[in-house]
Amino acid sequence: MVGHVREPDACEEPTLPPCVALDCVTAGILTRAHERWHHGRLREAIALAEQAVEADCGRCGRPCSVYAGLLLTLFLVGIRHVDEAADLQRRLHASPEVQDDLQLVASTTLVGAKVALAAGDYADAAALAEQGLRLAAETGQTAWTPVGNLVLATTTLRRGDLCAALHYSAKLEEDAVFAREMFPVGQSAWAIVQLSEAGKGRDKAVALARELLGSQTFTRRLLVAEPAAVPWLVRLLLRVGERGPAGAGVRFAERLAAENPDVDSIGAAVLHAAALLEDDLDKLRRAAESHTDPWARASVLEDIGVRLSAGQDESPEAAGYFERAMRAYTHMGSLRDASRVMSRLRGINASPRSRGRCRPRSGIQGLTDTEYAVAKLVSQGLTNSETAEQMFLSRHTVAFHLRRVFQKVGVKSRLELAVMWNELDTGSVGPAADAAPVLSGSRT
Ligand SMILES: [Zn+2]
Ligand SMILES: [Zn+2]
Repeated sequence: MVGHVREPDACEEPTLPPCVALDCVTAGILTRAHERWHHGRLREAIALAEQAVEADCGRCGRPCSVYAGLLLTLFLVGIRHVDEAADLQRRLHASPEVQDDLQLVASTTLVGAKVALAAGDYADAAALAEQGLRLAAETGQTAWTPVGNLVLATTTLRRGDLCAALHYSAKLEEDAVFAREMFPVGQSAWAIVQLSEAGKGRDKAVALARELLGSQTFTRRLLVAEPAAVPWLVRLLLRVGERGPAGAGVRFAERLAAENPDVDSIGAAVLHAAALLEDDLDKLRRAAESHTDPWARASVLEDIGVRLSAGQDESPEAAGYFERAMRAYTHMGSLRDASRVMSRLRGINASPRSRGRCRPRSGIQGLTDTEYAVAKLVSQGLTNSETAEQMFLSRHTVAFHLRRVFQKVGVKSRLELAVMWNELDTGSVGPAADAAPVLSGSRT
């Protein structure tokens, strides 16, 4: 099952905190915590990390309990106990020990970005990552930069800004080459596969996906970090008829889930992946109920819509699932995914009620030149102030034009506007009867 792929030695989470002095009590416990995590014994790993936080070493003279706290936060994010993770990150960040040390402020900020990403707050995640990376650069702390680069590679890709996503994936490659401490091996690999797929490098993406699911180490790392990853890889492989590698990945994932029956995020990921493999609608519905990760949940709603609409000219039920998926993606700031789902919605002859909600594009033609320019910049993610600066207008004038744009185009928020605009921009508004989504990187 492992095939010819060499299992990487590097670790998803840090092996040792920088306070690996021989006399550090905390580092000793953390080493054991990491070793458990590494072998897929997640609850034991978390219990040990909690012990490490409380160990109160006081011998090594370094902030070892902060490192233990950051590691515990990442473990909790990994199994999507996001509220707990957010609590812990906030407490660490506010502690005097951290506030007195700018390098630690940088590290806790970057971990905060990771928490926000898992919570589906992409705007927050990106802002924290940028802030953390700036501080890290100023203080010469490179150990945690991979966390920030991973967050930004993900948020830019999901927003549909492939150019920025390429920039951050190049940064991640640099982090890997320089073997920076906190490099998340599995998650970075998945980010790069997603980016290849988005950039129309599907053959390359398929080859990499086969490699990831063919490696038990990678599969395990993805399951303990990203509930959406294994289903995503399985979906990609099935789409090109690679049932063998997809099935092998699912079988190994099922074993890991059985060893961790109380870890819900893994259970949901495995159920979702198996449902895709077996084309099992009932399992997909159960996966939709069990996923707590917002992006993973949106993706299974989309899968249900695809399954329900297959071979149908009309499916109000599928349209309902697509609408829920689109709302969820839009809410997160995952505009690229939202616009793909919008294409799917247009592609099925849904009920008149939901068809009415697919906005006509005629509103765009009614925009004045200024309104058009404002709409375009705002859709690229610029704030009103940034738009104002670019157009040599006041912020209030921009806000005024934007309100007119919303009215004319029939949208309620800048996110909705951006979804619609990006779709027009990429020419993805297909004929209503064309069930195939037209956006790049769409699924079938
Ligand atoms: Zn390890
Ligand atoms: Zn210590």
